Amino acid sequence: MTSVTSRWLVDASGRRAFIKRQLGLQKSSPHQASAAWFRFSKWIKIDQWCDDPAWQEGHAGKTARWYSTNHLMGQGYWVWLIPLASGSTSMGIVAAEEFHSLSDFNSFEKALAWLEKHEPQCAQAVRENSDQLQDFRAIKRYSVECERVFSGDRWGITGEAGFFHDPFYSPGSDFIAFANTFLTELIRRDLTGHGFRLRAFSYDRIYKRFFYGTLQAYQDQYRMFGNPTVMPVKILWDYLMYWSITGFIFMQDRLCEQSMYVRNLSRLSRLGKVNHFMQDFFRQWHEQTKDVPATGAINISEMPIIREMNQRLQEDLQGRAFFQRFAANLAQLENLGCEIVAHSGLSLSVPWGRSQSMLVRQDAFAHVFDSWQELEPVSLAETV
Ligand SMILES: Cc1cc2nc3c(=O)[nH]c(=O)nc-3n(C[C@H](O)[C@H](O)[C@H](O)COP(=O)(O)OP(=O)(O)OC[C@H]3O[C@@H](n4cnc5c(N)ncnc54)[C@H](O)[C@@H]3O)c2cc1C
Repeated sequence: MTSVTSRWLVDASGRRAFIKRQLGLQKSSPHQASAAWFRFSKWIKIDQWCDDPAWQEGHAGKTARWYSTNHLMGQGYWVWLIPLASGSTSMGIVAAEEFHSLSDFNSFEKALAWLEKHEPQCAQAVRENSDQLQDFRAIKRYSVECERVFSGDRWGITGEAGFFHDPFYSPGSDFIAFANTFLTELIRRDLTGHGFRLRAFSYDRIYKRFFYGTLQAYQDQYRMFGNPTVMPVKILWDYLMYWSITGFIFMQDRLCEQSMYVRNLSRLSRLGKVNHFMQDFFRQWHEQTKDVPATGAINISEMPIIREMNQRLQEDLQGRAFFQRFAANLAQLENLGCEIVAHSGLSLSVPWGRSQSMLVRQDAFAHVFDSWQELEPVSLAETV
């Protein structure tokens, strides 16, 4: 055995979770979902699965669908298809335990049988390419939590060694970036003679608040995966939450600025409640619409609000402009929440008011329907 000493210890050991286990910081996650994934040594081209013009339209040449990560979704699950630079295709089944048990897809043969039942077109592609199978892995209950990730005793945890939510939207790399940014600042402060112990305490709390805020997008929400009425709107909402708060703060290089959180405390806590309300609303909306067939398709990337909010991540906002934009982001989300709930037709009243600020779009959600394209029912049944 070799022994080493160092001023700081940072655990990036993934699920080995060295510090978490040593210090007994493990916490079970309420989000119980599992995954299995496998690779084929060739690119599988989803564009070829159906020759209906509606499926091909707008996706010729360099805009072919197979270049992107594609998700096939149904109640309680999603299936990913990712073209890898190596020339392989990664495919994965991710499902909430409440709806699908891992024991039904934890080997290649079982995964194929599961796909036959839930995603027959995908199953056909898997069967046709089974001689190109490279590997197969599965993980039961991938969500992990931790009591604490940063300590004034000069240790810290980053990545899956501490927390992991869910692979949908890929938040794992974001939270690695958040933890690394906080840890780098703590170590920098220590090495330059600045106080870091209290900071370790507050950064730990901020990190966990971001984690649990983001977890709301997943916990108890797999039921609506595959609902064509609710899911596109939920994805829109989740993107905008992300770009308005965590993504925004990080891109503006304000993650470690304690005074920024103090100044925005009431806004952040209000927004936590707004998100909680909306995620609950999505569950209720799902209950009302789960048997309604799909009638249209939305291209999220064409929506003005999505483009605007995405482009704004690049803005360089100094001083007052940052706080103004932050306030506008929050007001925009509140207005969007009002519009979405009103559009749903559910008899729910939103427990917050609308902002009339000039910085906020007053009809953000109306534009969703600008990009909504009616589909022939036949083509949808064949392709999705
Ligand atoms: C089902 C699933 C699908 C995912 N899909 C995606 C995706 O499509 N895109 C995406 O961005 N993210 C995805 N993620 C998330 C991503 O895998 C994780 O966020 C990321 O791998 C975590 O990185 P990490 O460095 O914390 O841990 P790891 O990637 O596990 O790295 C930890 C490293 O530490 C090493 N190690 C452990 N113990 C020791 C030791 N004692 N000594 C030396 N080395 C040690 C390990 O060998 C390993 O190399 C997915 C996660 C899951 C569960």
